[in-house]
Amino acid sequence: MDFRDYVERFDTYTKIARISRFAEVQEGGRTYPLLCAETDGRHRLVITSGFHGEEPAGPLTLLTRFEEIAQWARAHDVGLQVYPCINPSGFEDGTRYNRSGEKPNNDFLRYEVAPGVWKSELQPGEPFLRWALFDGGPKETRALRAELEKHPRPNAALDIHQDRYVHQPLSYAYVFGDRAAYAPLVEAASRYATIARDVQVDEVNRTNALGLIEYNDGSVTDYYLRRQVPYTAALETTTSTPLERAHEVNLIWIRGFIELAARGE
Ligand SMILES: [Zn+2]
Repeated sequence: MDFRDYVERFDTYTKIARISRFAEVQEGGRTYPLLCAETDGRHRLVITSGFHGEEPAGPLTLLTRFEEIAQWARAHDVGLQVYPCINPSGFEDGTRYNRSGEKPNNDFLRYEVAPGVWKSELQPGEPFLRWALFDGGPKETRALRAELEKHPRPNAALDIHQDRYVHQPLSYAYVFGDRAAYAPLVEAASRYATIARDVQVDEVNRTNALGLIEYNDGSVTDYYLRRQVPYTAALETTTSTPLERAHEVNLIWIRGFIELAARGE
């Protein structure tokens, strides 16, 4: 999909949200706006999607189902702060990284694991001395990090991904915080995609019996953990999950995160 068509369609939501461009990036001689959609509410939820360009379901769920998402948020007095497609050139090309080959997903922060030794991710259970915001990284990451830092801490934050490495229609999530809060979302999502329970999803990570993983990877989810957001997750459906089912799983988690955000002050 040409990103201009994506923007044009997202701009039709100006009646129900403030649609803005918080930055623009140059890729392959073209200028891409980075979109944000905001609504008002007493509680606040940040939703991000499209860090990886070959994972289209999240950006498309937010594009095609935004009205019902905004309605659910309004009903729960939750203000949305949605960044629907963070890597526009990757989305357009169907490539994981941006057109100049940068990897926008991580690089929000770094961990000091020994004096002067900084790492971008921690092995499970690895101790660290402190963390710090990273000051470099891909252009999209730098722009989003600066944008998120301008805002007060939200009540919840959801990042929507897909997994193209596991070749079955499955869903699972990277989470921090109260795992019991996520169990109903997993249960509801299991109607549309088999939950990846006790599955090795890459060389480092294995899901637990709930289909959940904790991983400090310097992503936006890890960033919000460090900002002490009580509910933060990166949702995955595999790219072999039919798109309509992936949309339903995404909506279950979006509605669930709206409800979790509404628990906050
Ligand atoms: Zn991803």
